[in-house]
Amino acid sequence: MDCIFCKIVAGDIPSKKVHEDDEFFAFHDIRPAAPVHFMVIPKRHVASLLHVQPGDEAMLGRLMALVPVLARQEGLGGGFKTAINTGRDGGQEVDHLHVHVLGGRRT
Ligand code: 5GP
Ligand code: ZN
Repeated sequence: MDCIFCKIVAGDIPSKKVHEDDEFFAFHDIRPAAPVHFMVIPKRHVASLLHVQPGDEAMLGRLMALVPVLARQEGLGGGFKTAINTGRDGGQEVDHLHVHVLGGRRT
């Protein structure tokens, strides 16, 4: 599959890794929009929130629960922003579901 983020998960494209477990991968954005800017993604290819299926609820819950754990680990215990761009009209450029986590200054 021709997916940049699947290639990052596979290690075929290098990334600055923040976290990896059986289900999720997190890495710094190549074009950071804040002093700290990383993304959390499921390893399994889910194209976007518009592609979520019945049965994905628990995965999405674990994904969101992982966000504050990693945010604290990256020094964002004082707070952060999250964004999930979805589809062309939502500004999504990479068609593999990802949660942006941004922080490091007041926004
Ligand atoms: P989107 O607009 O789809 O929500 O966000 C995609 C993000 O992926 C962008 O912020 C972009 O900078 C980032 N990105 C695109 N290609 C790469 C890459 O090869 N490596 C990393 N680390 N980030 C990437
Ligand atoms: Zn993918």
